[in-house]
Amino acid sequence: MAYKFIDNYREKGARKRLVELLRKKGIEDEHVLNAIGKVPRHYFFDETFWNQAYKDIAFPIGEGQTISQPYTVAYQTELLHIRKGDKVLEIGTGCGYQTCILLELGAEVYTIERQEKLYLRTIQVLPHMGYKTNFFCGDGSKGMVKYAPFDKIIVTAGAPFVPEDMLKQLTIGGILVIPVGDEQSQQMVTILKVGDQDYEKIVLDTFRFVPLVGDKAW
Ligand code: SAM
Repeated sequence: MAYKFIDNYREKGARKRLVELLRKKGIEDEHVLNAIGKVPRHYFFDETFWNQAYKDIAFPIGEGQTISQPYTVAYQTELLHIRKGDKVLEIGTGCGYQTCILLELGAEVYTIERQEKLYLRTIQVLPHMGYKTNFFCGDGSKGMVKYAPFDKIIVTAGAPFVPEDMLKQLTIGGILVIPVGDEQSQQMVTILKVGDQDYEKIVLDTFRFVPLVGDKAW
């Protein structure tokens, strides 16, 4: 894949239109929309496919994985209620687009990807774009106990169930956002940790993610 880091008027315009589309689709958080408006999503595409970068679609990034649909990224991010300085664990870095959105919101991000080829590409691309963060390669289905606790945890692949380890690694008041279901479709689940053993769970809309693969997953 040949990356080119040029953000010209055509891409800037397309990004603005994407933001308006997401607003129409129901994304309300201006901070999230602002972040979508800032991150050059076409930098994650080969130049041949730049005309696809600001469509509201997922797109292949190699290794059988995808860059998430912008609406899905905005939807999950909105549910996290990110505040500046929040310590966030992202499971499923992929190409790093969601990571950039979290960084634009002022989060301190720990992100883990199980596919080494994607990890190696992303640790080069993001710093080149000016985003520096904590990248890890490995199975994130158990969370990352070494760096816990986290204020927020976001899982960007479809899980068969909510892994206990992730709940334990949340701060009190912390939020987990995770798609849960079978391999065909998953429902977005948010879990707020209200006490040491107390959680409030909300089940939301249906999505289709690539599978979360690992010890506490598929
Ligand atoms: N966050 C990405 C974005 O911004 O577009 C989307 C990532 S893609 C939909 C899901 C990613 O999760 C894939 O790159 C996949 O390899 C990764 N993944 C699946 N299971 C994982 C696991 N147990 N630990 C870490 N990453 C995992």
